[in-house]
Amino acid sequence: MIRTRFAPSPNGPLHLGHAYAALVAHDLARAQDGEFLLRIEDIDGERSRVEFVEEFFRDLEWLGLNWDGEARFQSKRLPGHAEAGERLKAMGLLYPCRCTRAEIAAAATAMGPDGPVYPGTCRHRPGTSESFDPEGAAWRLDVARALDLTGPLAWTDERAGPQRAAPEIFGDVVLLRKDLPASYHLAATLDDATEGITLVTRGMDLFPASHVHRLLQALLGLPVPVWHHHPLLIEPDGRKLAKRRGAPSLGDRRRAGEDGRAIVEALREGRFPAGISLSEGLHQAP
Ligand code: GLU
Repeated sequence: MIRTRFAPSPNGPLHLGHAYAALVAHDLARAQDGEFLLRIEDIDGERSRVEFVEEFFRDLEWLGLNWDGEARFQSKRLPGHAEAGERLKAMGLLYPCRCTRAEIAAAATAMGPDGPVYPGTCRHRPGTSESFDPEGAAWRLDVARALDLTGPLAWTDERAGPQRAAPEIFGDVVLLRKDLPASYHLAATLDDATEGITLVTRGMDLFPASHVHRLLQALLGLPVPVWHHHPLLIEPDGRKLAKRRGAPSLGDRRRAGEDGRAIVEALREGRFPAGISLSEGLHQAP
């Protein structure tokens, strides 16, 4: 049975771009009598707010996008994330790093999907285990070493077709943050497996992240889903909708008396508000 999820982070209100992401996940599941889950990605304690979570529930009900079962909270799974982190450490695949953003930017020689690629400063730090106190450090994945272990990996996006996994485009990603026993990559990959997600739907902006997630699945022995990276709603300047650039929140539209189901119906039919369009851009296979 197909199972999808919508996985918003409660660090701001939802806007039309989120409604589109939720409807893609909802409709793909419902079209095949599958399940549609809601996961609240709330591990970032500094930025997550419970008020936003309550708004998410109201917004989704108002849109008519009903999820199956109880909403799941990523923060409740942190012990499991930490345990997976320990397994990767025991495999010799993680190393501690205290480099600051500024140090990385100054030393980097390449750009990746999230900015400057980490130049590997701490990867082969001599005597790491004895003389380097890893408390308070972030832990990075030694991607080259991990790929040596797994060999070449492939994954499939329903729209873009077969992909060769290329996690190296990010450099050695952080898997355990300084302040958390997880990071987006580790938490999302583990939670998708725990929830039995068979089709991971999310925006094209997160397409590159799936290369890393595929590698983590191989290292941790997790099932491999299919992915569906959907187009993004963009503004006339080509940038995706964002609350900070004035996209009205769904909550404001709900309180103003608009019809949420009509908004979803318009999105389904490809009718967007003035100035908003769908960016069909697809990634090329590397
Ligand atoms: N929490 C992420 C976001 O709000 C989505 C993560 C995902 O779908 O994998 O952008």
